[in-house]
Amino acid sequence: MTTPNANLPSHAPMQQFAVSGNDLIVGGMPLSRLAERVGQTPFYAYDRELLRARVAELRTALPAEIKLHFAMKANPMPAVVGFMSGLVDGIDVASAGELKVALDAGTDPREISFAGPGKRDPELRQAVAAGVLINVESFREVDILARISEELELPARVAVRVNPDFELKGSGMKMSGGAKQFGVDAEMVPELLARIGDQKLAFEGFHLFAGSQNLKAESICDAQQKSYDLACQLARHAPAPVRFLNLGGGFGIPYFPGEKPLDLAPIGTKLAQLGEQARRDLPDASLVIELGRYLVGEAGIYVTRVVDRKISRGQMFLVVDGGLNHHLAASGNFGQVIRKNYPVAIGNRMNSGNHESVNIVGPLCTPLDVLAHRMTLPSAMPGDLVIIFQSGAYGASASPQNFLGHPQVTEIVV
Ligand SMILES: *Cc1c(COP(=O)(O)O)cnc(C)c1O
Repeated sequence: MTTPNANLPSHAPMQQFAVSGNDLIVGGMPLSRLAERVGQTPFYAYDRELLRARVAELRTALPAEIKLHFAMKANPMPAVVGFMSGLVDGIDVASAGELKVALDAGTDPREISFAGPGKRDPELRQAVAAGVLINVESFREVDILARISEELELPARVAVRVNPDFELKGSGMKMSGGAKQFGVDAEMVPELLARIGDQKLAFEGFHLFAGSQNLKAESICDAQQKSYDLACQLARHAPAPVRFLNLGGGFGIPYFPGEKPLDLAPIGTKLAQLGEQARRDLPDASLVIELGRYLVGEAGIYVTRVVDRKISRGQMFLVVDGGLNHHLAASGNFGQVIRKNYPVAIGNRMNSGNHESVNIVGPLCTPLDVLAHRMTLPSAMPGDLVIIFQSGAYGASASPQNFLGHPQVTEIVV
């Protein structure tokens, strides 16, 4: 029928996974065999070698003194967190539930930081007892931490999460600038710092997180410079020297047609400059960046099996055994304004030349359950394996698994 059109914007090539014959190779195994090994579809598979390679790539591109944290909300599977914990310099958690996973993984509590609006009193208490760094996001948190510190005879380790007066331009998701539920507005931070000093909490630094899913190195560098400058101004009001300056992250990965991978080189140069400045301005501080999807997103695929193949009014539909219940983001319902296709392939027909235009839909009784809209792919039959690339972040844990009562997805690390 049709062949891929060279004039339309295409997805970035998914070269992180090799192909042998017709099969994608995942964790060193042909996908058809891996699916037998797992014993069920749908499943997510995360490739250890790719996780390791991504961290190595960052270490090469960024100055050695930059501390690399994994924001585990991107992929909280315990085996992934355990593996990542051995590769990065720290884990960022956003709930007591995530804190437990990070501690169970063997992460040193000194290398764990806890952010998030609406931290409940028991969560704060657990965090103080664990000895992790708490990114405070309100005056209330400071007062509660003061009481807990007294009761436990253990000063809470705190950093201030700042809501800056700028944003990360061109982000998939803005998380700063203007009125936000995250952090404390920069202009109120001096007062908060005074309160932290009065309450004798152990002040350790600042946390600024300007946005997410950004593919423009220039915008990321700009936000890093502004974050650094703001932290230096605020540090004058701090009750103790800054030991950690968390400059956030925001590094994106290419999901949609026309998107290109992020260029790390300019970010490496910028962070080297800031490291240099920090040795002068904030001599006790380590610079930290915290990344979620950039570390794990490209190392994972979602695998689902074709159940049915049918034509409706001239369009081909493949119905597969999982959809938005397991992978909300690929269906376009996790914060996207306009639905676009993730990179999709037929994992056991990678070299088939027989293409057709298809819609791939999940088994849910809702028109929102679309995994591919009119994509040109090798012709697939019931039993074939549809895969979605770029699925290592915000997959299983970010999807409404109970919606419509289909089986839960399984996750493996290979
Ligand atoms: C979500 C989040 C991250 C991770 O964002 P990614 O886009 O996955 O890199 C990091 N830090 C904070 C504070 C977050 O809320």
